[in-house]
Amino acid sequence: MQDYSIHDGEGVRTTIFLAGCSMRCQWCANPETWTQHPKLAYYEHRCQQCGHCQEACPQLLDPRRVTIQDHDCRYCGACVQACSQNALSIACSSVSVESVYQKIVRDELFFRFSGGGVTFSGGEPFLQPEFIRAVIERCELLGISFWAETCGCFSWSQAQDVIRHFEHIFYDIKHMDDDRHRYYTGVGNRVILKNAKRIYELGIPLTIRLPFIPEVNGDDANITATAQFVSQFLPGTPVELLPYHELGKAKYTAFKMHDDFHSFTVPAPEAIEHAYAIFAEYGISRWG
Ligand code: SF4
Ligand code: SF4
Repeated sequence: MQDYSIHDGEGVRTTIFLAGCSMRCQWCANPETWTQHPKLAYYEHRCQQCGHCQEACPQLLDPRRVTIQDHDCRYCGACVQACSQNALSIACSSVSVESVYQKIVRDELFFRFSGGGVTFSGGEPFLQPEFIRAVIERCELLGISFWAETCGCFSWSQAQDVIRHFEHIFYDIKHMDDDRHRYYTGVGNRVILKNAKRIYELGIPLTIRLPFIPEVNGDDANITATAQFVSQFLPGTPVELLPYHELGKAKYTAFKMHDDFHSFTVPAPEAIEHAYAIFAEYGISRWG
């Protein structure tokens, strides 16, 4: 959970990241959320090599060398507690509906004064519709504004009931070509485009988000195809272009996922403006 988010919707918001995603986008900045099981991160640049973490481990492991494939780690957190340098942390821990509710209650005042609320993000939040439903039901009397960020790759039949409770959804469209979408993300785009139309038909406001990566999806043909899709099937929906960045690179190192890291070109501001101009030709505004 992340406090005081100001980029995940209106006002001050608490963002709840739900782990697990069907996609493997080559530019992903949160690879620790691909699967739901806990993971131990090790930030070597902070480490003083004091060895206190190793002394604290009941499994007699060296936490600095634990990998995602390591089945001996119990993710007990003893090593994290023992490290005074914040060089270790555990991602993707289980939390109860009640603990999320208590957190929302604590933040409620900020929501009220800023017009904010709660944003579910991921991973892919709609892969866990039961959890979301339980949180929303628990918060029923609080009048919380729920927003979501989704990659669109989820089962409509399982998630549609819970989606109806959302005020606004940020929705990723990564490529309009099915083959190229599959190449760069591991899945095709048909379900994603279909789910976007279904949410729109429910009357829930959307913002289409495009991670803008020049050599992947930043060409005029793809931007034009995206604009045509939005103007034809999601009229009135704004777009937001998210320039590619490499801020997630350190995580691939910390979680020892080096083999999964890919590097792309950071787009020039002019390229972003050019893409927005194409959307504008189709009557599509920019978000925010
Ligand atoms: S999380 Fe627990 S079991 Fe895993 S390395 Fe740290 S101390 Fe050992
Ligand atoms: S306790 Fe922290 S600083 Fe010391 S060796 Fe372990 S990770 Fe490094």
